[in-house]
Amino acid sequence: MPSKDQNNQEGPDVRSSLIKVNIDGDTMFVDSNLYRPQVEHAKKLLRQKRLPKNPKPGEWTDEKYSLHKIADYKPFNFVDGEGVRCSLYVSGCLFDCPGCYNLAAQNFNYGVPFTQELEDQIMKDLAQPYVQGLTLLGGEPFLNTSVCLRVIDRIRKEFGHSKDIWSWSGYTWDELQKETPDKLEMLSKIDILVDGRFLESKKDLTLQFRGSSNQRIIDVPKSLASGKVVIWDKLVR
Ligand code: SF4
Repeated sequence: MPSKDQNNQEGPDVRSSLIKVNIDGDTMFVDSNLYRPQVEHAKKLLRQKRLPKNPKPGEWTDEKYSLHKIADYKPFNFVDGEGVRCSLYVSGCLFDCPGCYNLAAQNFNYGVPFTQELEDQIMKDLAQPYVQGLTLLGGEPFLNTSVCLRVIDRIRKEFGHSKDIWSWSGYTWDELQKETPDKLEMLSKIDILVDGRFLESKKDLTLQFRGSSNQRIIDVPKSLASGKVVIWDKLVR
């Protein structure tokens, strides 16, 4: 070994386990064995700096991506909107938000196929008088419009507007206005939209029904009638 490369310092020679980490142009060397917390911290910083994806209008569609699969169905819950609700989690989302609450459901092939039996079960559950409505979430409901519209249309046929329909979406309200006809049709048939990607930099666990402060709970019929976003009038925080 050339003399300039020899380690003359006291203590163990840790150079073989040094790893190089680059964060936003700054480079640091850390011992992966002795300084694992720093490595984890560096990874966390990297995750926070990455942002969700931004599709061009019409770039992503149900037709291109949906496999008509369901990640989960949870009847009679209290957490996905106002009142007692039945929640349908569709599979597949392309926004890829760092810190996504449901990573597995980003995969369009995750879960089980949507079936007539499940549709009938949802209607049976919704018929309970104490159930206020259905919530669509995922995954991305607006990239699964074929499944969601089928359920929405059946709810309107059987229950009219006596049951409300909430949907979460990574799309913002403004983005949806420039989107494909199936997405606009779905938007026109729901009552509440919780819009926008999850942003880790704006994460706030004290917010009602949403994870980051950029997301809004939007009253859809009032917004469509007035041509501008109208926030849900029961919003507390
Ligand atoms: S939009 Fe929602 S489901 Fe999609 S990646 Fe972001 S947090 Fe996850």
